[in-house]
Amino acid sequence: MTGVVYLVGAGPGDPGLMTRRSLELIAEADVILYDRLIPPNALDGARPDAELRYVGKEPGAAALPQEEINALLVELGRAGRRVVRLKGGDPFVFGRGGEEAEALAAAGVPFEVVPGVTAGVAAPAYAGVPVTHRDAASAVAFVTGHEDPAKGEESSALDWDALARFPGTLVLYMGIRTLPQIAERLVAAGRDPAEPAAVVARGTLPGQRVVTGALRDIAALVADEGVRPPAIALVGPVAELRDTIAWLERRPLHGEVVAVTRARAQASGLAARLQGLGAEVVETPAIRIEPRPLERELRAALARVSDYALVCLTSPNGARLLFAALAETGRDARALAGATVAAIGPGTAAELQRHGVRADVLPERFVAEALVEALASVPVEGRRVLVARAAEARDVLPEALRQRGAEVDDVALYETVAEPLGDDGRAALDRATYVTFTSSSTVRFLIGAGAELPPAARVVSIGPVTSETAREHGLTVDVEAERHDVEGLVTALVADAESRRGALA
Ligand code: SAH
Repeated sequence: MTGVVYLVGAGPGDPGLMTRRSLELIAEADVILYDRLIPPNALDGARPDAELRYVGKEPGAAALPQEEINALLVELGRAGRRVVRLKGGDPFVFGRGGEEAEALAAAGVPFEVVPGVTAGVAAPAYAGVPVTHRDAASAVAFVTGHEDPAKGEESSALDWDALARFPGTLVLYMGIRTLPQIAERLVAAGRDPAEPAAVVARGTLPGQRVVTGALRDIAALVADEGVRPPAIALVGPVAELRDTIAWLERRPLHGEVVAVTRARAQASGLAARLQGLGAEVVETPAIRIEPRPLERELRAALARVSDYALVCLTSPNGARLLFAALAETGRDARALAGATVAAIGPGTAAELQRHGVRADVLPERFVAEALVEALASVPVEGRRVLVARAAEARDVLPEALRQRGAEVDDVALYETVAEPLGDDGRAALDRATYVTFTSSSTVRFLIGAGAELPPAARVVSIGPVTSETAREHGLTVDVEAERHDVEGLVTALVADAESRRGALA
């Protein structure tokens, strides 16, 4: 049995630029051999039992030699493994994928090539520079600047006269250290010293840096700014277009580092929204949701679930876990057919919808008091009501319903427990310019566990209850959402960032 080796490009760094095919193959692989310049978390989707092997080189340090990588790929393929050879950018653009493919072809091991988004196109694009343009460049050359002319390493490989004459954009990979010599040689060979140039470091990643200038001074500017690899250098009139079409920096949350403290399992929606607006998101979960086992109280509630006139859900977790508990006892949404179903907010309603139930009651504001008001017209006197919620939730809702004569089963579906921050989490939190709190428990567990927020970070709260808890823990709440859900929190955060930017301008 022979395996297959996939030579896969992982794109330039932004995880969103990984191809669908690359993610499919990562998810299926038995073995993944990966390089240094792959996007953060690129391997998150790998099978838990997959073998992950780093074969890249640290700058300056010895790498697994290319021949050994080739031999390893052949060996693993022959052993019947499904192998992903994952590289930054595109595997066939300065990625030595060609050599690996040759070795596999020679050995008769089946392989496939999955192109990736190459840094030479993507980094300029994220800097607002199109590598070709109808009026400014009708050709583009990908050039390696790796050879060190000072050490006489290059001479044979690059034809400087031809590059100087090349009628289009020059895109230089691996050239940041040798940029002074490269620029000098190009000018000496006749390239216009006044020609626009740009350097894009860490392109498409948080912390992308761009330096622009004329070919004659670009190397000095890059040195002054302390720009470090990985970087793409680009020479051509298109570099000037950045002045008009830079877009990354114009996104509302560009430059902000936003800490998300909610449970990791719940963080992705908020994180994606913030990233979409240009923020760098650091996940610093303070809590974790621990479902309660089907204990007596919950079993009893489930046994008579069809008798409830009203079922209230006060969090998306509660909704999700109620259906999980129903499923565990062999039932589904039909068990709620006779009940009025109330959700505290749109997240909870969306979770209900996912299980085929439309909320009958949804308050205008997403706090327990508002839900109590919204339930005023629902007859509850003498009827059975289920309030399914967190163990540590406030008693406002069940109390109010009892006062109206309802027979309330108040059932805890889960507990919110502390998630220790760890050193990485603390380091991430230290970089935050905004820290978001989406519930009182996130405040209690983060600050209660002794975490300190960076003094300049702005504290964002989802609503008045969370804000109150924050103040009790000695925090100053800088931003409070008007609408108490993720969307409301994002809106308030963006408004704050914009007004501060306006104040600086
Ligand atoms: N196969 C890769 C290139 C590998 S060579 C591709 O197709 O993109 C490594 C060089 O790529 C680096 O020295 C740098 O010039 C460039 N590079 C890779 N990632 C980059 C990034 N995020 N921003 C800028 N340049 C990058």
